[in-house]
Amino acid sequence: MHLIIAEKNISANRIAQLLAGNEKVKATKDGNVSTYSFDTKTVVGLKGHVVEVDFEPGYTNWRSEVHTPRSLIDAGTIKKPTEKKIVNIIQKLSKKADLVTIATDYDTEGELIGKEAYELVRAVNPRVKINRARFSAITPAEIRAAFENLTDLDFALAAAGETRQAVDLMWGASLTRFISLAARRGGTNILSVGRVQSPTLAMIVNREREIENFVPQTYWTLSLATEKDGVPVEARHTAGRFTDHDAALAAEAGTKEPLVVTDVKEGQKNDRAPAPLDTTTFIVAASRLGLSAANAMRIAEDLYMNGYISYPRTDNTVYPKSLNLNGILETLRGGVFDKDVAWVQQHQRPVPTRGKKESTDHPPIHPAGAATREALGPDRWKVYELVVRRFLATLSPDATWATTKCLFDASGQPYTATGGRLLSPGWRRVYPYSEAKENILPVFAPGERLPINNVNLEEKQTQPPARYSQSRLIQVMEELGLGTKSTRHEVIGKLVSRRYVEGNPLRPTLVGRAVIDALDNHAETITEPEMTRTLEEHMQLIKQSQRSREDVVTESREMLHRVFDKLEAHEKEIGSEIMEQTAEEHTLGTCPVCGHDLRIRHLGVSQFIGCTGYPECRFNISLPGSTWGRAIRIEETCPEHGLAHVRLIRKGSPPWTIGCPLCSHIASNVEALRMMPSMTDDLVQRLHAHHIYTVSEIAGKQPGDLVATVGVDAKEAEQLIHEAEGALEVLRRRSELRKFIRKVVPPRKGRSHAKITKSLLEQGIGDIPALSRADPAALKKAGISDAGATELLEAARGLCNERTLREAGVPAVSLKKYQAGGVASPDDFCYLPIPYLSSKTGINPETVHKHVDMVCKHLGRKSPAKVTRAALERGQKELLEVPGIGETTVERLYLAGIYDAATLQEADPGEVSSITGIAKTKLHDYISHLK
Ligand SMILES: [Zn+2]
Ligand SMILES: [Zn+2]
Repeated sequence: MHLIIAEKNISANRIAQLLAGNEKVKATKDGNVSTYSFDTKTVVGLKGHVVEVDFEPGYTNWRSEVHTPRSLIDAGTIKKPTEKKIVNIIQKLSKKADLVTIATDYDTEGELIGKEAYELVRAVNPRVKINRARFSAITPAEIRAAFENLTDLDFALAAAGETRQAVDLMWGASLTRFISLAARRGGTNILSVGRVQSPTLAMIVNREREIENFVPQTYWTLSLATEKDGVPVEARHTAGRFTDHDAALAAEAGTKEPLVVTDVKEGQKNDRAPAPLDTTTFIVAASRLGLSAANAMRIAEDLYMNGYISYPRTDNTVYPKSLNLNGILETLRGGVFDKDVAWVQQHQRPVPTRGKKESTDHPPIHPAGAATREALGPDRWKVYELVVRRFLATLSPDATWATTKCLFDASGQPYTATGGRLLSPGWRRVYPYSEAKENILPVFAPGERLPINNVNLEEKQTQPPARYSQSRLIQVMEELGLGTKSTRHEVIGKLVSRRYVEGNPLRPTLVGRAVIDALDNHAETITEPEMTRTLEEHMQLIKQSQRSREDVVTESREMLHRVFDKLEAHEKEIGSEIMEQTAEEHTLGTCPVCGHDLRIRHLGVSQFIGCTGYPECRFNISLPGSTWGRAIRIEETCPEHGLAHVRLIRKGSPPWTIGCPLCSHIASNVEALRMMPSMTDDLVQRLHAHHIYTVSEIAGKQPGDLVATVGVDAKEAEQLIHEAEGALEVLRRRSELRKFIRKVVPPRKGRSHAKITKSLLEQGIGDIPALSRADPAALKKAGISDAGATELLEAARGLCNERTLREAGVPAVSLKKYQAGGVASPDDFCYLPIPYLSSKTGINPETVHKHVDMVCKHLGRKSPAKVTRAALERGQKELLEVPGIGETTVERLYLAGIYDAATLQEADPGEVSSITGIAKTKLHDYISHLK
């Protein structure tokens, strides 16, 4: 059997289909892992890495005295499986295999993944032949060629990957532990430090500092407006920026008619077609389409695995000779791009464009197969179209522009205007992503005189450098040798998820700054790109077998020991520097009551804003639980209260900006205050001035407190407290109503529970009893369907009934029996005859009488007479002796209060018939028998 191991399940499936050709591929599932078989071949997919490198056991305790953070530098490592099921299947199949081909992605990471698979195979089958298939696109031609030219695994390339893995683990784990322990952070709050991550973060922090320290300079620009044949023309003073205001004013004053054309230069400019896409240029181009780096790469990988584009992780910007460019053009014929492809085929440039970087592993990113918008969906199509159009552009002729540069003289002041006209659009025909803006000047001749319509002196300020966008940062990382084409976007993603940076463009958080500041002060090696770049260079040497893995790891280990020498000497300072700076992260401003700091506090899932003056000062503001998002401070501050604004952030959902916590606290409580009848605007103001914002605060006060603070007399104070208690009760009932609706009404898009409750409140329905009595029309107005309204009303009635009965004293056990017998409302208790209630529920008639009595008293109604069990049993016998009366009839008679011969004899047949549905003539018969 020939076993083929691919990088992922999806690529395994595709490779099997392509190799099988017309033959049918049999897919089998074994413990959730799919294998694809045909002929004598079986293809199975990994999940990227299926084993991971970790420290030998014994290093898990962070606070161990023996295994200090530094000890991790020299700790031994082991490989352990992370995908046990896949590992098991690979080894099961390997035992039967007589040939194994590794068909993972072709780059350092893919080679390492391949080597991991190689070791898994070797562990169970030491003699089987193992070879390697290398391809850059999962297309029929590439896959066929790869399997016709099988080679050996490149152990040097894999060793480079292993080196990086080892060094990253060593640096990341030891430094993360050291810094987190120094700053007393644990659990989910650890401060991670990494070989690539930290220098990247440092770049973002440094840029922020540049922006903050930037002192803007004022400068002036001068322009004039003229025209020819009605066409307006703007000309700029040739001095460009004036930094001296007087000079600018003098030039403005000197600008006078006549305006004379002194020189006209016509020229032509070549506008070169863009170079082929490598990973970085691809991410930059995709970011213009609104895709984040991580998203763009995720989609590109998906397109690659489905055979639509070539391998998207590449540093190459030069098409290799072996790439069949015309073949790819042919593949694209007939689809949406047919016209564009035909045009390119007719006008194809003799040699495709080429970028600065050339490598031999993968070609630049290019289309590999035809696709349709319908098959791909909007986002994948956007990326696919970009790759196709870029490919077409690289084969298209350059665009050419006709340029004009005019010089003018305005009484000694020199001005200039430039124009451009697109002569031939070339590649721009097929690549519409960058706009070509024409500026066509009228035809001027030297010596020509023109009017000056307007002179415009503008004051401007120099701008600080811009923050890095994700795609710009990836470009700079590449220039500095930080990370690789495969890891750069992941590093940025990690910085975001660890809350070191936020937003796009990227801004450091206070924690991010604190960590970088502390590292900069005590161990700058970690934040400077040199160390990381050196390692990338060493990896290149390992790939070329010029250095060994052990050698490079040892060197890195020694460097890390030197870093620890410095760190350990300053552990206390580092810790306190970080802690001081990050405490600031939670501080919102001063407490309005006592002047101490107000801080965001997190306690498990609950979070609130509390005063650092606690317990003397009990001022606090509640926040939604952290399931709604973790509360963080943002830059804006409230002009009224001087407090920083608060935002809730949750992974995968848009942030919820609360704004000034005190403003929002006041706004959400003012309505409740106004529910108190004696509340006036003036009183609200006075309460606020004394930091009393909620009805529950008023309800919790002593009358004396209110007299002393808000200036009311003792009687008014008591009245206020009483009213506050009333308002609290109304609020309690409202919140109960809200919870009830949330429980009963299923959520639906565009119909929030808050909206429903609000509409009900507006219609005067403020609690569950009011809801149970509501008109269905009111529910409909609140956006609930007819069926939903019936269900909601029934549920509300049921709940109210149950509550009344419980309040009356009916025990819960009996209540269940009544409900099971269809007796649910207090009215049922008061109006249904006791014999009927007893027979329906199986409860002893004397007990039923006790319950009925309680309910009637509770509702202020008259209780019915008692019926004993003996009377009921005797009565049943009497009734059953009457010819024609069976047990069913007895039950029906109970409903009319007839339970023995005497009650039957006294009955009015007309009335009984209408209650029980028994025919009047029959009732007459029964009664006549008794007589
Ligand atoms: Zn306080
Ligand atoms: Zn405010």
